[in-house]
Amino acid sequence: MSATNENGSFTGRVAFVTGAASGIGRATALAFAREGASVVIADLSDDGNHETARMIEDLGGRAVAVRCDVTRTEDVAAALDRTSTVFGRLDFAFNNAGIEQPVAAAAELTEQEWDRVVAINLRSVFLCMKRQIPLMLAHGGGAIVNTSSGAGVVGIAGQAAYAAAKHGVIGLTKSAALDYASSGIRINAVCPGIIGTAMMDRFTGGTAEGRERVISQEPIGRMGTPEEIAAAVTWLCSDAAGFVVGHAMVIDGGQTAGL
Ligand code: NAD
Repeated sequence: MSATNENGSFTGRVAFVTGAASGIGRATALAFAREGASVVIADLSDDGNHETARMIEDLGGRAVAVRCDVTRTEDVAAALDRTSTVFGRLDFAFNNAGIEQPVAAAAELTEQEWDRVVAINLRSVFLCMKRQIPLMLAHGGGAIVNTSSGAGVVGIAGQAAYAAAKHGVIGLTKSAALDYASSGIRINAVCPGIIGTAMMDRFTGGTAEGRERVISQEPIGRMGTPEEIAAAVTWLCSDAAGFVVGHAMVIDGGQTAGL
């Protein structure tokens, strides 16, 4: 099935975005809306959800905000049931909700920290796809993009759980892509570098020195913007990417190019 309508836009199509109350998820929800899609905003944060929905409505788009903890099967099921009830279909999914881990050597991480990071950053992607794929199959296909990270393609000291989860997202993405390529669902991942979001502010402490420290890892000499990731996600969902299957697209200003 074509991802776009006869005008080449996403008008009449429906996108589901997790972690859409902030950062990369919000920018991508807005990008889907600008292309004409109706958008389901699924995040833990009610205030953030409603703010993203309001921003989409200000653009003249349609949005539904659903409080959803992506680690809870019942929340994910309810959010996708709501998608079906309100819009009657699902075309695109961006499984993006995530958290950072405290910097700690592998053996210093607690079991609780490990479980939390893996549950939110990896298990949730499985839970979401498990409910999204049948909805897409019901009308002939769709496209899914999952958020990995630079930490999905290289190891990072002090980030064992985060890197394990993000490597896992790529393995899950590639395997599921093979399972559904012949059924009209294309599944890919994005691997952002250092992007200027609330997560990055928490990671750097929000200080000029903290920002400079992470920017020094970026050959391009700056942080990326959430909109630069959103552009890749909407492209991966478009017909222009119709032959792109099981790809983990690194968008990182060169951060991992020389490694
Ligand atoms: P962010 O903190 O701005 O946004 C993350 C969103 O996820 C928040 O709105 C938060 O409420 C939501 N969230 C957290 N736990 C949730 C849960 N259990 N259920 C539902 N929603 C939940 O961060 P961001 O930078 O926009 O990160 C988005 C994704 O990009 C994450 O998966 C992150 O790991 C990944 N990433 C970010 C960067 C970066 O530099 N910012 C780099 C690589 C990968």
